[in-house]
Amino acid sequence: AVEIRKVNKFYGPFQALKDIDLSIPPGKVTCLIGPSGSGKSTLLRCINFLEPYESGKILIDGQMIGYDAPGKPMSGRRLRDMRRSIGMVFQQFNLWPHMTAQQNVAEGLIRVRGLRKPDAEERAAEALRKVGMADKMGNHPARLSGGQQQRVAIARAIAMEPRLMLFDEPTSALDPELVGEVLGVMKTLASEGMTMVVVTHEMGFAAHVADQVAFLEGGELVAVDTPSTILHHPRDARIRAFLRTYH
Ligand code: ATP
Ligand code: MG
Repeated sequence: AVEIRKVNKFYGPFQALKDIDLSIPPGKVTCLIGPSGSGKSTLLRCINFLEPYESGKILIDGQMIGYDAPGKPMSGRRLRDMRRSIGMVFQQFNLWPHMTAQQNVAEGLIRVRGLRKPDAEERAAEALRKVGMADKMGNHPARLSGGQQQRVAIARAIAMEPRLMLFDEPTSALDPELVGEVLGVMKTLASEGMTMVVVTHEMGFAAHVADQVAFLEGGELVAVDTPSTILHHPRDARIRAFLRTYH
């Protein structure tokens, strides 16, 4: 579980997050939606402390990330340890172009987890099978479609056996016909009980897969509720205005 408590984040004088309170329940999918610039990526990046924040706290399974105590930053080593349980997938796949799909997935297991190469490659193959990429393990990224590259990126994250997965618009760089295969993999992960936080513009995914949907605007968490309430019966006019841009 992730507990976000009264988090405030500034970029210089600009306040990107305002008093954010949000509970991410274990084994559930939380979707973050909202207009461009509302703070979705910032909030996601605060969860694994890729972005520091000025006040408030974020607890991962009861442990504060980034600080040993309020105002007391944790050591780089402790932060790296905590991040090991968190996987992240971005809009851009960031695969190494000179490595095959399998090598891309194995690399982190060797470097970060200290696995021996044959063991890492075996585990990489297993993760790639899970995302439906068994037959393309030997391909370099240039020989993979965008959807396939993103599935390799997901395999790379899940091979590390995270307890929490963060996704920042994982399908928005893809051609429309490739979106479904990536969402399908995410849906499978969700059905296996992975705790997931997903920034997305895919309202269908949010409606069908999310357990809760959080709507941000202007750095504020306007509402968090069931997908049906947020997407089909929103009480807040800002949410209604946002959803109208999708029709
Ligand atoms: P999008 O849907 O376009 O990805 P978002 O909801 O993810 O938007 P963020 O990227 O979190 O929005 O940005 C929130 C606000 O913070 C924006 O106004 C943005 O301009 C600002 N911002 C983000 N990163 C920085 C930065 N490194 N320095 C200064 N301002 C930033
Ligand atoms: Mg963003």
